[in-house]
Amino acid sequence: MGLTGLEIYKLLPKKNCKECGQPTCLAFAMQLAAGKASIEACPYVSEEAKAALGAASAPPIALVKIGVGDRALAIGDETVLFRHDKRFEHPPGLAILIPDDEGEERLRERLEAFQRLCFDRVGQIHCADMVALECRSGDPATFAAAVKTTLAATDWPLVLISEDPEVQRAALEVAKERRPLIYAATRDNWEKFAALAKEFDVPLAVRGENLASLVELVNQVTGAGVSALVLDSGARQPNQVLADQTQIRRQALKRFRPFGFPTITFATDPDPATRVMEAALYIAKYAGIVVFASDDPAEVLPLVTLRLNIYTDPQKPIAVEPKVYEIGAVTPHSPVFVTTNFSLTYFCVASDVEASRVPSYILTVDTDGTSVLTAWAAGKFTPEKIAQALKESGIAEKVAHRKVIIPGGVAVLSGKLQELSGWEVLVGPRESSGIPAFLKQYWQN
Ligand code: SF4
Repeated sequence: MGLTGLEIYKLLPKKNCKECGQPTCLAFAMQLAAGKASIEACPYVSEEAKAALGAASAPPIALVKIGVGDRALAIGDETVLFRHDKRFEHPPGLAILIPDDEGEERLRERLEAFQRLCFDRVGQIHCADMVALECRSGDPATFAAAVKTTLAATDWPLVLISEDPEVQRAALEVAKERRPLIYAATRDNWEKFAALAKEFDVPLAVRGENLASLVELVNQVTGAGVSALVLDSGARQPNQVLADQTQIRRQALKRFRPFGFPTITFATDPDPATRVMEAALYIAKYAGIVVFASDDPAEVLPLVTLRLNIYTDPQKPIAVEPKVYEIGAVTPHSPVFVTTNFSLTYFCVASDVEASRVPSYILTVDTDGTSVLTAWAAGKFTPEKIAQALKESGIAEKVAHRKVIIPGGVAVLSGKLQELSGWEVLVGPRESSGIPAFLKQYWQN
């Protein structure tokens, strides 16, 4: 039986410093008791207290790391069922399935195609982030050679797929330094797979035939001393996968320990639309890894976009750095736009300025990543803040004029801003799509 919030509270440092994201130590203790926080969020808890907290201090879903260095993928450590309860912590890895039996040249082509699956979304680069190498040859030497080629071509993490321990051993001899995930321990091979995971110190995927057999298998594997696990309920029909994923997450949050690990799912339908739909479903509910049987950018782009949407912290809008941006070959006579540092706002303005073909400066004001009207309503996009940004950004040294264009939605700021900054304030269009026409009409170089 878990500890109560008050019992946990007695073991906390009681600094009320808020560094854990909670207003008080008591609030943090309550979150911990409800399985909605990890003890690691408090930097001041002593090792003795952690030990005393025991299971209550462990995250409800273990954090599992696959790969090494900057590319390592961390999955698990989730604390909520619904994103709006707090946030989802670790986006699922999108693993592109590549077989080992198509020859060296084709493998290289596929790996090159994999490396191209990176996309710029609102100023951030999002990629497919794992190679799932599947042994279809059945031959340890062929698989090991494919692993070697893959390791030379990419530093992204690997999933090694084969149920044959000898095949996995041959692959691990080559790949052990890169800490791949081995897939999968089953009822028939789990002892050998558990031994491999321990010997090579790599995470291990376990596949049941249903949830009940998965529990049994997890208990056997953890009993053998393996703690970094990834779970597969064995379901392949999307409705059953959804039911299993949901049940695993629900029970894990209630601290049912056999389900306290991230999961792996497979979207391999031959029909592209169905395959994308399956992967989208698993990204939303609640996969730690989605193995995806296509490297077509047209299929992967919507998936990385969906993943970005779901795994963005709802309490932290995506923001760009507040500073002066140059769009095109600017001159001292270029227009100066001012807007907020909400990423979407900035990129809309930037692309419409680009469309106008008038090289321009965009000054983004720090509004904690909120949009123009939200920031204005919250007192974060005020004449005082804009005047300060104009002064401190150095824009005055870059342009020979003193005219600034503000968004049309906050025309009300113009008088006070002009007074405070000494800049002539032009009221721009309400929507950024009006920028090209606005510049044509009002801006002469
Ligand atoms: Fe208390 Fe630790 Fe949170 Fe600070 S970080 S408020 S000490 S629980």
